[in-house]
Amino acid sequence: METLRVGSQHPDWKVSLHGGHSSKYCDHATSTLEEMLEAACDAGMRTYGVTEHAPRVEPERLYDEEVAMGWNVDTLDRLFGEYAAEVDRLKRDYAGTMTVLKGFEAEVVPEGRYAGVMLGFRERHHFDYIVGSVHYVAGYIIDYLPGRYEKAVEICGSPEALAVRYFHDVARMVEALRPEVVGHLDLFRRRFASDDAASTPPIRRAAMEALEVIRRHESIIDVNTAGLRLGFGYPYPAPWLVQAANKMGIAFCFGDDSHNTTQVGAGIIDAREYLMSHGVTHIETLEPGTSGVGRKKIAL
Ligand SMILES: [Zn+2]
Ligand SMILES: [Zn+2]
Repeated sequence: METLRVGSQHPDWKVSLHGGHSSKYCDHATSTLEEMLEAACDAGMRTYGVTEHAPRVEPERLYDEEVAMGWNVDTLDRLFGEYAAEVDRLKRDYAGTMTVLKGFEAEVVPEGRYAGVMLGFRERHHFDYIVGSVHYVAGYIIDYLPGRYEKAVEICGSPEALAVRYFHDVARMVEALRPEVVGHLDLFRRRFASDDAASTPPIRRAAMEALEVIRRHESIIDVNTAGLRLGFGYPYPAPWLVQAANKMGIAFCFGDDSHNTTQVGAGIIDAREYLMSHGVTHIETLEPGTSGVGRKKIAL
C-alpha cells in the first residue's frame, strides 16, 4: 500500500458488510483481495467487511467449473484458511485508514450438518462475524449454475412454494447460526418475473415469520446492491420487506456483494436513498471492540 488516505471526509454510512469476494478464493470473482480493499479505500468506504463464501464440504456441492479446474473439497478448505490469514494481514495494513472486518458468507445452511460446519469455521479461523445467506432450497442452489433452480421448483411444487420454503429456511438458518448479518433476504426474487408474484400472501406470511426470528436474534439485514445490478430497480430486499422490518425495529446495513473492483461500493448511494424513501433513518454497522465486534448506529 503506497499512502495512507484519510477517510474522514467520507460519510459514516459508507459501509459494506457483505462483499469483497476475490479471485484467489472464489472461482467466480475476478479481482484479488488486495485489489478489492484498495478499491474500497478509493471509494471512501469507512468500514469494509470482507465475506468470502465458506467452503462446501461435500464433493457433490462443488460447482461445475470448480470440478473442471480440478478443485476438490480439500482445495476449498485450504483456500479458506489462506483467505482468513490474508484478511488478518490486510486488516493490519489498513488500520487507521479503513476498518476491515473479517467475515464469511455461510453456505448450504440449514441443510444437513452445515450449521455445525459453519460455526466450526467461525471458531477455527477467528472470524469477526458471519453473513448468513440461504442459497440452496430443497438441496439445489437457486442463484447459480444452470438448471438447479428449475429442479428446486419441481421439488417444491411451484415458484411460490419455493419462496415459502426459502423463507422457512432463512428462519432456520438464523436460529442455527445467529449471524450478525442476514444476506440478500429475498434472493429467490431474481427468478421471479414480477414483484407481485414474489409477494403473494403465503410468501408474505413466511417472510414475516423469518423477520420475527431475525428480530429476536438481532441480526442486521443486508441491503444488497446486487439487486440493483440485476435490474430490479432497487436492492435486495424488496420495499415491502424493508417497511415491515423497519416497523419491527430490525436494523439494516449495506452490502455491495462485490466480486470485482468495479462492484466495490457500487450502488450504496442509491441504497441509502432507497432506505430513506421507506422511512429508515439509520443503519447499523459492526465495530471491532475488546471482546469481539460490537454494533454502532449511524444516521443516514
Ligand atoms: Zn459469489
Ligand atoms: Zn450470497
